Amino acid sequence: MSKKVLIMAGDGIGPEIMEQAEKVLRFLNEEESLGLEFEHALVGGASIDAAGVPLTEDALNLARASDAILFGSIGGPKWESLDISIRPEKGLLRLRSEMDLFGNLRPAMLYPQLADASSLKPELVAGLDILIVRELTGGIYFGQPRGIRTLDNGERQGFNTYVYSESEIIRIGRLAFETAMKRNKKLCSVDKANVLEVTELWREIMTDLGKQYPEVELSHMYVDNAAMQLIRAPKQFDVMVTGNMFGDILSDAAAMLTGSIGMLPSASLDANSKGMYEPCHGSAPDIAGQGMANPLATILSAAMMLRYSLGYGATADRLEAAVSAVLDQGYRTADIYTDGTEKVGTAQMGEAVLNVLKSSN
Ligand code: NAD
Repeated sequence: MSKKVLIMAGDGIGPEIMEQAEKVLRFLNEEESLGLEFEHALVGGASIDAAGVPLTEDALNLARASDAILFGSIGGPKWESLDISIRPEKGLLRLRSEMDLFGNLRPAMLYPQLADASSLKPELVAGLDILIVRELTGGIYFGQPRGIRTLDNGERQGFNTYVYSESEIIRIGRLAFETAMKRNKKLCSVDKANVLEVTELWREIMTDLGKQYPEVELSHMYVDNAAMQLIRAPKQFDVMVTGNMFGDILSDAAAMLTGSIGMLPSASLDANSKGMYEPCHGSAPDIAGQGMANPLATILSAAMMLRYSLGYGATADRLEAAVSAVLDQGYRTADIYTDGTEKVGTAQMGEAVLNVLKSSN
């Protein structure tokens, strides 16, 4: 039976990195007869330019009808002055919420070949393998009411609402405990329960859920401490679970432990493992159009998609091994370049992965 993959390249470096990921996926599809059918849709600034909105109803319907979405990146200075309601980011947020992609898995792994690319000492990060489970469709990014109002004294005031209902906390908690069970059975829940009632409830529910997973060693940490510990001794963590905003920030910090945000994939899953897969980074306007972006995070996102939504675990393993082999061969894009390695551009990096795959059939 064929499976539908929707490709949404987006803005900035999105189209450049996606071209490489699509090339690799199409090769695997043909060679292994995976039966994938590819469709394409605009999103973000590209969609604003073409249709006036960051996500059209047609694009949303295509996303709903697909088994998985491979997403590039969105946004850029061109659209920053638009009203917040039609900015590029709205396209992504709408996709996540309309498709109920509540569980964001963000691995932060340090490839041994890249230990020198981290800004931390190699002994602190060598062998790092953290997975951050971030709640993605709730919390302060979606809470109502929100806005900017004018007070009686004429001063403007911005306001947002941080809310989580019990059911939202339970389902992300379950995903985190289940993920911990598949790894090293160690879970750290991150909150700010000393200040925010919403995360006091979060902590209480995580503790209750923990009773159903007695094998998992559950700990709790305040977000400010978690930020410090991630930089001080990151290997103490295995799986971390947290809300939308804290997860947004901590997962970027964890990303940098690995040397480059250009290496990190992510998955956003619904309750039925249908998912959207995207690199952790944004549209990198500072390097867009220069052919120097690292396509590996997008290629590794495609591997996660093969594994989690399309049921092709062995193909995913093969693709991840190809990425590792390319690093062994010494190829590096500028973001992960160190002395003694060979600096390549976006297309050359994609080609190198393809060549390894071609020689490994
Ligand atoms: P960014 O991730 O785009 O860039 C941060 C830094 O990392 C830049 O120096 C960039 O050159 C570098 N970088 C990012 N990806 C890279 C890659 N693949 N290879 C090499 N270097 C890479 O974050 P930002 O600068 O804060 O945001 C830029 C734009 O992206 C903004 O409009 C923002 O809203 C948007 N954004 C989009 C997403 C998304 O699409 N999911 C996520 C974050 C930011």
